[in-house]
Amino acid sequence: MGDPKGFLKVARQEGHYRPVCERIMDFDNVHKMRTERQSQDQASRCMDCGTPFCHWACPVGNYIPEWNDHMFRGRWNKALALLEAANNLPEVTGRICPALCEYACVLGLNDDAVTIRENELAIVEYGFKNGLIKPRAIRNRTDKAVAVVGSGPAGLSCAAELNRMGHSVTVFERDDKPGGILRYGIPDFKLEKSLIDRRLDIWKKEGVIFETGVDVGRDYPADKLLREFDAILLSGGSRVPRDLDIEGRGLNGIHFAMDYLTQSNRRVAGEKLPEAKIIDAKDKKVVVIGGGDTGADCVGTANRQGAACVVQIEVLPKPPDCRGPSCPWPAYPSLLKTTSSHEEGVKRQWEVTTKRFIGENGNVKKLLCMKSGREMAIEADLVILAIGFLHPEHEGIIAGLGVEVNERGNVKTPRGFMTSAGRVFSAGDMRRGQSLVVWAIAEGRSSAAEINRYLAGGR
Ligand SMILES: Cc1cc2nc3c(=O)[nH]c(=O)nc-3n(C[C@H](O)[C@H](O)[C@H](O)COP(=O)(O)OP(=O)(O)OC[C@H]3O[C@@H](n4cnc5c(N)ncnc54)[C@H](O)[C@@H]3O)c2cc1C
Ligand code: SF4
Repeated sequence: MGDPKGFLKVARQEGHYRPVCERIMDFDNVHKMRTERQSQDQASRCMDCGTPFCHWACPVGNYIPEWNDHMFRGRWNKALALLEAANNLPEVTGRICPALCEYACVLGLNDDAVTIRENELAIVEYGFKNGLIKPRAIRNRTDKAVAVVGSGPAGLSCAAELNRMGHSVTVFERDDKPGGILRYGIPDFKLEKSLIDRRLDIWKKEGVIFETGVDVGRDYPADKLLREFDAILLSGGSRVPRDLDIEGRGLNGIHFAMDYLTQSNRRVAGEKLPEAKIIDAKDKKVVVIGGGDTGADCVGTANRQGAACVVQIEVLPKPPDCRGPSCPWPAYPSLLKTTSSHEEGVKRQWEVTTKRFIGENGNVKKLLCMKSGREMAIEADLVILAIGFLHPEHEGIIAGLGVEVNERGNVKTPRGFMTSAGRVFSAGDMRRGQSLVVWAIAEGRSSAAEINRYLAGGR
């Protein structure tokens, strides 16, 4: 329970960001970790509320009050054991989860919520620092082989779980390194890629096999997959981008967010790309269309590349700063979010509809937009479309296996996580549409339990 009066004595304290002038000069993590003592003080604010809505709101069902109590009392090992019992990637959620739990924290009803996400991060980083997180020996191996197609958080969590259950797991990934959006979408200033490698190293030592550079359904035919594996998980994400089909869309200088972010992440990782293909914001007037998290990542990236100015526009109205009666506690509210990237310099505008792009010599120069019934123009040399994703690609493995999709174009799983194609399962964004890392982990874990039951003949 922490300290029963902790919340009366200790105020919420979040970790700090590095100063803007320093952090926009590099792609290193913007977040500064709190000390262990500070995290224990923060854990003392958890007040034994009786019904932990935080646990209910967290998609992986983290044992939040319990690990807060252990951490407060210095029982870090026990806190870590509980954390690892529910979450395969706490070092990721501890950094980039929108903390659905904190919006449901009972203390948040009339005070500031407990810093649950950062407490989670403190526990897992304590574990790594003190050598407590290491490969486990898998003693009893079954004779079952499972293929996981796609190595984002959903596929990785499923693979880790099934491997620990004793099955032989091969993760196929079309990119040259595993991680999915964690590696090639989310910028390093939010999530350093060494963190993914640190975790992958453990899973490799535990026996998970990774086959990268393999596009399943094209390089590796569906019938071969069915012949060689007892069960298959499709966790290929949802990557078909929503487009803006308006006049001028074909002009140079208009790109999808994932194309921009992926190549920025590759460049930060030291890869050399052909000069002609590089999308760079240096000295450019950048307009990011789309006011969500992906858009914010593009803003942060453009500022680091030395953009002349950055504007972010959103078609929806500006969200409120605090909960209204239509969204009572403990539901997750849609509130105005100011990320570290926004603090670094951007002009944000809401209720702006883009009507057409205007160009000069084939290159984009302006956006013609409508706001409050009036026409306005925004100058731009680089436009990034961050307006979401439609559904997974249907060609390739989905078509190859004959898996049905639902009315939104996502993989249909009529019973739990099993698709229409028998021993083929699906989890993560490919099944639920673009979502959150914590949901991908939750789906990866639940699908692993279901695949395990299926392999044991229990379905
Ligand atoms: C720019 C951006 C920023 C985001 N920021 C956050 C954030 O801060 N916090 C948060 O919680 N969520 C965030 N999200 C959402 C989150 O990243 C996703 O919900 C999550 O990664 C989904 O996981 P997944 O495993 O289902 O799929 P993905 O992470 O998309 O991984 C799918 C993998 O499958 C591979 N693949 C696909 N088809 C094949 C095939 N046929 N053969 C082999 N491999 C294949 C792909 O190459 C990819 O590596 C962000 C999303 C984006 C786009
Ligand atoms: S995974 Fe997200 S919702 Fe769950 S405890 Fe961590 S921060 Fe909260």
